[in-house]
Amino acid sequence: MLRQDGFDYEFDSTKCSECGGRCCTGESGYIWISPNEISALAGYLSLDEGEFRSKFLEKHGYKFSIKEKNYNDGYACIFFNESEKNCSIYEFRPKQCMSFPFWDYFKNHFDELERECVGIRRL
Ligand code: SF4
Repeated sequence: MLRQDGFDYEFDSTKCSECGGRCCTGESGYIWISPNEISALAGYLSLDEGEFRSKFLEKHGYKFSIKEKNYNDGYACIFFNESEKNCSIYEFRPKQCMSFPFWDYFKNHFDELERECVGIRRL
């Protein structure tokens, strides 16, 4: 079980295998990625950064978000592996994904998190 200071719930990451990737699919949303993460992921995929950005990212103001694709009745991150139901770039996923489900937003939206994540338990 994972816990983090300031959060009144814990997370069992072993449940991810039975979930089907609900944190990477569903409603459309931003998946922010930093310049350092862009550089690392482009290298991993053997692409130069310009090519990587145009293929996989959208620019919003001065920030970049990972593109989405249609999936079931909603959306999925473009890096969501539909047959394995997991992240195809797991070791290089952005901090936003690594820090899930410990987002400040969920401190006041626990019901929403509970609907999305089967690994959550209130302390
Ligand atoms: S980068 Fe990986 S972990 Fe993050 S939303 Fe996309 S598929 Fe999910």
